[in-house]
Amino acid sequence: MRAYDKFYIDGQWVAPVGQETVAVINPCNEEEIARLAMGNAEDVNRAVAAARSAFGDWSATPASERAALLTRICEAMTARQNEIGDTIAREMGMPAPWSRMIQAGLPIATFASFAQILKDYEFETPMGGTQIAKEAVGVCGFITPWNYPLHQIVGKVAPALAAGCTMILKPSQLAPLNAFILAEILDEVGLPPGVFNLVCGAGTRVGEAMSAHPDVDMVSITGSTASGIHVARAGAETVKRITLELGGKSANILLDDVDFQAAVTKGVYDCFLNSGQTCSALTRMLVPREKQSEVMDIARETVKTMVIGDAFAEGTYIGPVVDAAQQRSVQGYIQKGIDQGATLVTGGAEPPEGLETGYFVKPTVFADVTPEMTIAREEIFGPVLSIMPYGSEDEAVAMANDSPYGLSGAVWSADMERARRVARRMRTGQVYINGAGFDINAPFGGYKQSGNGRERSHYGLEEFLEIKAMMGHNQ
Ligand code: NAD
Repeated sequence: MRAYDKFYIDGQWVAPVGQETVAVINPCNEEEIARLAMGNAEDVNRAVAAARSAFGDWSATPASERAALLTRICEAMTARQNEIGDTIAREMGMPAPWSRMIQAGLPIATFASFAQILKDYEFETPMGGTQIAKEAVGVCGFITPWNYPLHQIVGKVAPALAAGCTMILKPSQLAPLNAFILAEILDEVGLPPGVFNLVCGAGTRVGEAMSAHPDVDMVSITGSTASGIHVARAGAETVKRITLELGGKSANILLDDVDFQAAVTKGVYDCFLNSGQTCSALTRMLVPREKQSEVMDIARETVKTMVIGDAFAEGTYIGPVVDAAQQRSVQGYIQKGIDQGATLVTGGAEPPEGLETGYFVKPTVFADVTPEMTIAREEIFGPVLSIMPYGSEDEAVAMANDSPYGLSGAVWSADMERARRVARRMRTGQVYINGAGFDINAPFGGYKQSGNGRERSHYGLEEFLEIKAMMGHNQ
């Protein structure tokens, strides 16, 4: 078993100050796969000091040099793509073929995308008689979740490196192993010491210490809305830049003119990808009332085609959820749906037969879900889909927007203009039309309580830049 008892600080693997460790568990079989060191505020201090002292030189490197480095990272990650995918499959349970493609593939594409953006990004431009310079914001603290662990990490690390920032990463302790591979790669490609630092630990200890640290200029967290609020509060004292990528409860509006077979099948598959543990999952399927019973039949049949099981078993589509607490939480939501009177189309609160070991949850579909029900309002983060009947297009839009969240959404219509019209009325950061896929080059982020700021594309780069206006003329 590889050791995870050190942190990567100032270009070295160093023993932590904090003495605690936690087990990293494979959620498919509940076996311990690693022991992880958990740091404390002193470990954060060391990492921040390293990042601070590296900032001057790193932020002054030519953009072309940083672009070349991003390309080298991309190549080194590509060489380890299957290892990365399998590591993530083991630590959080996504079926291995999907994990190799998505969990490892997206970070590789993200590094490539920022290498490309750097090629023609203008860091200095005239504006009338004033010169505008865009400069790295400084030392960044990154706090990330377990559901697409490396994708979320690289969504911050790649633009921060591109901008010339230095950083400290605190990954989720549930799925941290991929972050060690990233640190190895960054070391191997010759990133200067102190530019990237890795410290593991509890959110309430290491995450809060980073968020409150006076020498950290910016904190970016991807996680639940509750954690985002803690970070924003802790960072406010020192007026940090804070970006938040938080939860969602996204609506998938099926207008009355669609091919329901295609739209419902795709909607169910997308919702249950990664066992429903996707922040932008389309967990509310809004359907014309008169079509609901047809939709229920299609959804039931679709779920029957999905294989539930071990991440490395042939053909698995739905693995476990990440841990016992998440399993209990999701099962609790399913019970609440039943108790509050939603119609159970398929699934249920008990574990799937034959899968009593491991944190498995039955893929569950409810119908007749109304906007005030808990399963329509709260983010469940498990394989649970709510079918919600609507009367008119206006009512569908109002239901879609009736949420504290605003991360993502979708619309289906045979008429593209009609779909766009509805999409424009949705208060969300993304809208997927007619089953369009995730676009790595498009800005990603939330309205309302789904967050502040954007990741990916040049908008994502600019989150890591300060803007300086230089006025003046020849003497
Ligand atoms: P979480 O909020 O429990 O943890 C996320 C990270 O925050 C972890 O590293 C955790 O240790 C840290 N943390 C927790 N409390 C903290 C505190 N008080 N101060 C500082 N850091 C703290 O979330 P999770 O369970 O790991 O991930 C699931 C959540 O993440 C869901 O709500 C999901 O919607 C959200 N998410 C959002 C996006 C997005 O891009 N918007 C992407 C993926 C996941």
